[in-house]
Amino acid sequence: MWNLSFAIPALLILLVILAFYFSLPRLTVRRNRVFLQMVIIETIVMISDLVSSHMDNNYQDYDNWLITLLNMFFFIAFYTRSLIMYAFNVSVLDKRKNDSAMVVQLVRTPYYFSVLMALFSPFTRLVFYIDDTGYHSGSLYNILYMCAFFYLILSYLLFVVKRNNLKRKRERYCLFLYNFIVATGLIVRILLPRMLLMDTFVLMAIVAVYLAFENPEYSLELRGAIFNSRALREYIEENIGHFKHRCLGVTVHKYHEMRDIYGTKQMDEGLFLIARYLTRTFKGCNVFYYRRGRYIILCPKDSDFRKMCETVAERFKKAWRAEGVELYLDVGFATIEISNDIDSSDIILNTIASALVMADNMDSIVPVEITDTEILQTERETSVKRSLEAAIENKAVEVFLQPLISAEDGTVVGAEALSRIRDPQGKIIPPSIFIPIAENNGRINELGEQVFEKTCEFMKENDLEAMGVRWINVNLSPVQFMRSDLGERYASIAAKYGVNPGMIHLEITEDSMIDDNFLQKQIQAMEGKGFKFVLDDYGTGYSNLSRLKKCPFINIKLDMGLVWAYCKEPDAILPNMINAFRSMNFGITSEGIEDENMAEEMRRLGCDFLQGFYYSKPIPMDEFVRKYSKA
Ligand code: C2E
Ligand code: MG
Ligand code: MG
Repeated sequence: MWNLSFAIPALLILLVILAFYFSLPRLTVRRNRVFLQMVIIETIVMISDLVSSHMDNNYQDYDNWLITLLNMFFFIAFYTRSLIMYAFNVSVLDKRKNDSAMVVQLVRTPYYFSVLMALFSPFTRLVFYIDDTGYHSGSLYNILYMCAFFYLILSYLLFVVKRNNLKRKRERYCLFLYNFIVATGLIVRILLPRMLLMDTFVLMAIVAVYLAFENPEYSLELRGAIFNSRALREYIEENIGHFKHRCLGVTVHKYHEMRDIYGTKQMDEGLFLIARYLTRTFKGCNVFYYRRGRYIILCPKDSDFRKMCETVAERFKKAWRAEGVELYLDVGFATIEISNDIDSSDIILNTIASALVMADNMDSIVPVEITDTEILQTERETSVKRSLEAAIENKAVEVFLQPLISAEDGTVVGAEALSRIRDPQGKIIPPSIFIPIAENNGRINELGEQVFEKTCEFMKENDLEAMGVRWINVNLSPVQFMRSDLGERYASIAAKYGVNPGMIHLEITEDSMIDDNFLQKQIQAMEGKGFKFVLDDYGTGYSNLSRLKKCPFINIKLDMGLVWAYCKEPDAILPNMINAFRSMNFGITSEGIEDENMAEEMRRLGCDFLQGFYYSKPIPMDEFVRKYSKA
């Protein structure tokens, strides 16, 4: 006799979960789909368990074929539940599932086998059979446990390998608990087969994952009217590489100002009304709230953005009635085409966020359009940023040296230190790409300091005289130059390595010369510590001679653009300029010397030093030592 006293309450509790689950919006991601399948299959298992057990108990009252059919149904549902419970593990641990069809079928083989055995059992009597004395288990009844344990073991293996994909500890614990409860349920079932306790355990397992993963609070916002940014991330992560959507962003203009004007409570109500309006208006789409008055609509590929924007803009012409106040709000739009070449959800989310910031600054219903190329540009920038962060943190910024050559006799007299970083594949990223990024995010200070320190270290540890090197030029970004503590910091680094600051020439560009007073003060302060200054890239900015006169540069480097232009088509400008500099007692370096003729020409015009690929490209420090140390 089967005891139904645990199975019936379990079924009732499950029905409550089902009713609640259906009453809330659910994101169409695999995890939710599998969870739903799990709850449904569990309901089926419970009902078929109860009905077939009842029939088994009262077998005299029913036809044999009906009892057989229901038992067969129960067995198949039981196997299916094991498979789906495993699938739930996959859905949370392996979001970007890319198993081949063969692997999937291989994993399902025990399931197919078990189902076949159940289907043929009326003939083979291997799993179960019904005769005049009622229900009996067959000799291969234990297939049921083998199938269940097979999927449990797979679940544990997957958990061990991929548990770090779960960012939250609670999620990890709950998933472990979920599989543990199922295992316990199976053991209890083996020990107490008549109690029908398995369903109660499965229900406990379902509650565990419901609380950890499926709680609607986690993915909804604005009183449950709309999905939140966490849901957006999950959705993007799952669809990356095979996006079938277009993305429309809607942003409420001047969100913070509007909050101040209308009040927090009223504004929250307004945002809720907008959320409800958008979800109801764009039914075939997924609508997300992306914080601070910004909404994201992911819609089918063939959606008409123009019409959608017009519809929304039209609605915003009317007030939103919230908490007794009429809110008059403006909106901006952005469209983002998400290419399937992009494989990072961070990049997609960053692009969406910056598109919405742009849209916030535009008072037009014409959307800001972000295309594939722009996203890829952001992607490249993000990956450079990552390499830059890594290089700075790991003190892995490399310093290459390019020789400075005496125009008089062609010997090495100095060198310029030029920084390099590498991408994860070890390929060099040129400074023209990472310096502007470092300047924008403030990391240039640490980067510059690292280059300076490594240069000092090089000067301490090598015999500069043997290489003919009398000084080394180090570049200073305008951002660094503006720091009032620059002199102290650099002087203390030079002192740490026992390097004479006079042997370091700091290169600044005209971008550092915006504020004349500060320039004078800073240069004087630095000169007080012994450093010398060189003006880099002359000819790319707007300095006039009278301004230069006030600056105590020891040398002016002519930008290679200027040098190339002259060598291609000589005129009187460059020679006059050089003469003027010479009369002002500036030394002169010519950059970008690529061949003998250029070198000859610049020497003839009166340059003191030459720098360029003709002599050497910038090379790693150890190579520089090998190449230029005289035996
Ligand atoms: P820059 O200071 O004017 O450095 C000279 C640049 O011209 C170097 O590029 C060098 O490789 C290149 N160059 C030298 N001779 C030739 C030549 O004959 N032909 C050609 N086509 N190019 C030549 P690089 O190393 O890519 O550096 C680019 C710029 O990045 C530098 O221009 C400098 O402004 C900046 N930079 C490099 N390292 C640092 C650094 O540590 N700190 C700061 N703030 N800026 C740096
Ligand atoms: Mg330079
Ligand atoms: Mg230069």
